[in-house]
Amino acid sequence: MSSTVISDIATLVTNDPSLDGSGNSPLGLVRDAAVVIEGDRVVWTGESSKAPATDNRVDAAGRAVLPGFVDSHSHLVFAGDRTEEFNARMSGRPYGAGGIRTTVAATRAASDAELEANLTRYLTEALRQGTTTFETKSGYGLTTGHEARALRLAARHTDEVTFLGAHIVAPEYADDPAGYVELVTGEMLDACAPHARWIDVFCEQGAFDGDQARAILTAGRAKGLRPRVHANQLSYGPGVRLAVELDAASADHCTHLTDADVDALAGGNTVATLLPGAEFSTRAEWPDARRLLDAGVTVALSTDCNPGSSFTSSVPFCVALAVRDMGMTPDEAVWSATAGGAAALRRDDVGRLAPGAYADLVLLDAPSHVHLAYRPGVPLVAGVWRRGVRVV
Ligand SMILES: [Zn+2]
Repeated sequence: MSSTVISDIATLVTNDPSLDGSGNSPLGLVRDAAVVIEGDRVVWTGESSKAPATDNRVDAAGRAVLPGFVDSHSHLVFAGDRTEEFNARMSGRPYGAGGIRTTVAATRAASDAELEANLTRYLTEALRQGTTTFETKSGYGLTTGHEARALRLAARHTDEVTFLGAHIVAPEYADDPAGYVELVTGEMLDACAPHARWIDVFCEQGAFDGDQARAILTAGRAKGLRPRVHANQLSYGPGVRLAVELDAASADHCTHLTDADVDALAGGNTVATLLPGAEFSTRAEWPDARRLLDAGVTVALSTDCNPGSSFTSSVPFCVALAVRDMGMTPDEAVWSATAGGAAALRRDDVGRLAPGAYADLVLLDAPSHVHLAYRPGVPLVAGVWRRGVRVV
C-alpha cells in the first residue's frame, strides 16, 4: 500500500481538540502541518517537520486543509425544476402550484436512468465543493414502488440513505391521512427498509403531527431503521422533543424552538442540524445557532439540497450564512459542517483528520479555513481527496 504526505499546510483542521495548543478552538488546529495517507485512511497528522517518510509527496504550498464536508441532509432523488416558484416567491408574487407535489409528479414520471443521472449530477457538483460524505432521502415518490425505487438508486451512491415516505401525505390520500400513515408504516416500510439506514418524517403543520410522527418512527425502528426528524422548521411543535425522546440521531431545521426544546436537545444525544439554505431561499427567519451552542447542544450544518426550498449543494455557502446570520464563529461553523455532520450520522470515521479516519480531505486555495466565511461565494476548493484518492 503506497503512502502519501501532504506537507507545507499552513492551517490543518483535524477536529482533534487534543492537538490544539491554544485550547480556544474545537478544530484541533495544527500550523505548518502535514497529513500522511495510506490506502483509504489517515495514518499520521502533525507538524510538517516531523512527518515520517512516505512514497509520494504533495506540496500544499502554504494553503489550508480540512476534513471533507459531511452533508447529513439532502433530497437528491428527484426530477424537474421549480424555478417559477422561486422566481415568484422572490418577486413578491403569489404562486399557486403545488410545491412538493410538483416535484412528486415529475419524479414519478421520470425513468430510473433520468433520476440517477440527476442524482449523479448534483453529487458531482457537491464533491467539487468539498462534500465527501452525504446523506440523501426518498420522499418524492410517495407510493410503495416509487419510494423503494428512489432508495435503491440512492443506495448505489451512498451508505447514508433515508426513507422519507412521510414527507407529505401522498395526493391520492389527501382525504385519508390515517390511511397514508398505515401505508407508510406497513407495506411501504416493508419494501423500503432493506434499502435504507434511516427513517425520517416531516413533523409539521400540514404534514404529519406528533402522534403520526411517533407511529412512523417507531414502526421504522422495529424494522431496524434509525430515526431522524424534520422538526420545528416552519412553526413551533412537538418534533424536536419527539426526536430526543426516540434518541434520533438528528433533529433537522430547528428554526422555531421553545426553551423546553433547547433544554431537551442539551440533555439528549440528538444533534440539531441547521439548514440555512432553506431560510435563505424562502426569506425566512434564521435558526439561532448561538442559542443552541450556548446551551451546549451539538450543532451540524447541512445544505438540505432540494429543488423547492434550498437548491444549493454548497456547504461553504452554508458556512458563510451561519457565520454572517446565525451567530456562529468561523471555527464553530467549520466544525459543524464536518464533525457535526458526522455526529448527525453517528459516524466517527469521517469529519475528522486523525489516524484511523477515512482520508477524506479538502485543500483550500486559501491559508485558513476562516476564508470559507471571509470570502463567500468564491470557489476556494482547490483539491478533494475521497477515501485516499484525489478526485478533484
Ligand atoms: Zn429536508
